[in-house]
Amino acid sequence: MRSPTIDLLLILQDRDTRRLGIEAQLKGAPREVAAVEQRIAAEKAAIEAAKAELREFESKKKILETEIGSAETQRGKYQLQQLSVKKNDEYQALGHQILEVQKQIGELEGKELEAMYAIDEAKKRFLAAESTLKQNIAGHESRIRTLKERELSLAEELKEAVKAVEEASKPLSASAIEAYQLAARRRMPAVVPIRGGKCGGCHLKVSSEVESAARGKLPDTEFAHCDQCGQMVYWES
Ligand SMILES: [Zn+2]
Repeated sequence: MRSPTIDLLLILQDRDTRRLGIEAQLKGAPREVAAVEQRIAAEKAAIEAAKAELREFESKKKILETEIGSAETQRGKYQLQQLSVKKNDEYQALGHQILEVQKQIGELEGKELEAMYAIDEAKKRFLAAESTLKQNIAGHESRIRTLKERELSLAEELKEAVKAVEEASKPLSASAIEAYQLAARRRMPAVVPIRGGKCGGCHLKVSSEVESAARGKLPDTEFAHCDQCGQMVYWES
């Protein structure tokens, strides 16, 4: 037979375990919300990164266009000069410069094509990132709402659980509660059975003194403790 105090302690422990479980869930709730918010932020950041990339390639293309424009102007000047020179070597020198500018223009146009291709790719990335967020945002937002609602209901449940712990503590003596709390702070469960000579907390064999203390009738202010882990023990055949 278990002592009535142990029975009361087991009820207390049961309610306390429930309280601790709710507390742990409550502690985890803001982290879960933060994780969803982080995903939203990451998806928004991907859009911003793609947008910045797009802008960068577009301004690169603009610079190339300006460079091509001024090279073409230069070419035009040389061609005009060529029309007015009389000497053959001057004419050839200008012809050489025109070829040089022509080569430059060719290179710049190659780079412009690359920039246009990069703009297309960046646009695709931007649109993909945008549609990812669009597809996910409703889910993210409802997940946050659900998490926040759960947090509120957990807070209510916790109030009830704390009340239940208080109720379960009432019939216990101060020394029983003190012994329980000491063990509970160390580790849960605080009150564990001895089964087959072993402590239910640490699973090590308890000494015969502890075993007989747990079996015998102890005064209400004394409790048997596992001599290995220190948790409160009771006899369970
Ligand atoms: Zn133990």
